[in-house]
Amino acid sequence: MAVVYIALGSNMDSPHSQLDSALEAIVQHPELQLIGVSSRYQTPPIGPQQPDFINAAAQLSTDLSPLDLLDALQAIEQQQNRVRSIHWGPRTLDLDILLYSNVAGDSLVIESERLTIPHPRMAERAFVLVPLADLNPQLALPSGETVAKLLANCSQQGIVKLEIGTI
Ligand code: ATP
Ligand code: MG
Ligand code: MG
Repeated sequence: MAVVYIALGSNMDSPHSQLDSALEAIVQHPELQLIGVSSRYQTPPIGPQQPDFINAAAQLSTDLSPLDLLDALQAIEQQQNRVRSIHWGPRTLDLDILLYSNVAGDSLVIESERLTIPHPRMAERAFVLVPLADLNPQLALPSGETVAKLLANCSQQGIVKLEIGTI
């Protein structure tokens, strides 16, 4: 069984409902097990001007390979009408794979055309690291750096913890 951390984000069409539906789809998926979910955060957008995001992180376990996991998460994005138009633009749902530890407990490094793990921009994104730290601040990347250490080097300006909406 692999242990995986993912990032969830939405800033269109009722973002909290989008995250609720995504988590429900994960729970219903026969090959994904939801282990834990972070608090939700309202975060300023990166990229073009657009509404704030609601972000969260989740820990899953799965027997799916990294690419099959990407397919499963992209299918959930598609079910929720994700349209890829503007780069880093508004979206109903973004599900990104952050970290993937195989059955031996090794945190994998993958660089393929469709998939890069660890997520290439996670180390500089407070909107990813803050929810991830809810799950485990001592979680280490393959480099050995912990989430807490990366977070100490990131501005958390504008990130607001919300008191609602975890399952
Ligand atoms: P960012 O990756 O900067 O957060 P984004 O999430 O908006 O941007 P998407 O449009 O969701 O980008 O995905 C673009 C492509 O990124 C996907 O089609 C997928 O093949 C690729 N990708 C590479 N690595 C990952 C990863 N770790 N998790 C999810 N998608 C990835
Ligand atoms: Mg993303
Ligand atoms: Mg994405």
